[in-house]
Amino acid sequence: SRRRDRISTGSKSFDDLLGGGLETKAVTEVYGEFGTGKTQLCHTLCVMVQQSRLAGGLDAKALYIDTENTFRPERIVSIAEARGFDPRKSLENVIVAKAYNSAHQELIIEEAGAVIEDNSIRLIVVDSAVAHYRAEFLGRATLSERQQRLNKFMHILVRIAETYEVAVVLTNQIQASPDAYFGDTVRPTGGNVVAHTSTYRIHLKRSGKNRIARMVDSPYHAEREILFTLTDRGISD
Ligand code: ATP
Ligand code: MG
Repeated sequence: SRRRDRISTGSKSFDDLLGGGLETKAVTEVYGEFGTGKTQLCHTLCVMVQQSRLAGGLDAKALYIDTENTFRPERIVSIAEARGFDPRKSLENVIVAKAYNSAHQELIIEEAGAVIEDNSIRLIVVDSAVAHYRAEFLGRATLSERQQRLNKFMHILVRIAETYEVAVVLTNQIQASPDAYFGDTVRPTGGNVVAHTSTYRIHLKRSGKNRIARMVDSPYHAEREILFTLTDRGISD
């Protein structure tokens, strides 16, 4: 069975936190402040999914849905080089779809099935899942429509993860200012919709030059933290 297939994050301790790596047939939300490594994690996973199973991958390709123009081909190249993989091939095997607004983001995911099958994709990245919705639906009056649209998007992601046996990782920002709906507590944007629809949730934080990853609210994992670093290799121990 391919049920428990996993993709290495590039860090042994991060993999351990996830129970052996990023799980296929599941949606993993990674949230945290700016600069905590969400995009670096996404890039590293795109390189790692291409490796053999023995080397932590699934011999497969990645689909990167880029909503904030933060995909960096040169970062894929440098992570691959630092890890001793073919940089050119590593870049070729990442299919990048730029989403210009929330409707476009939804269209991309609605039509992703054919792309996944044609390219033997086992990893989908959505970096970031919520940014367009935040930008387009401002203020309390639009909140319920925003949540409905996000809800629809999230359910398509879940269905795709299960149908095509792919791992889905999506990033989410930490609410920087007091949120009109949730009050002044710090929590990821997208509210309950993203949180409740994701299978797993990882909170990234700074710890000096290092980073902390914490597994949040998982019935299958101990709620614990691990340390990792951001290097030329991407995510690392
Ligand atoms: P945002 O919320 O703004 O999207 P993010 O969580 O996606 O933030 P990243 O872009 O993943 O943040 O992380 C940026 C950080 O990664 C940089 O501040 C730097 O510390 C680190 N970084 C990036 N490239 C390298 C590299 N080649 N070597 C070491 N560290 C790097
Ligand atoms: Mg980012």
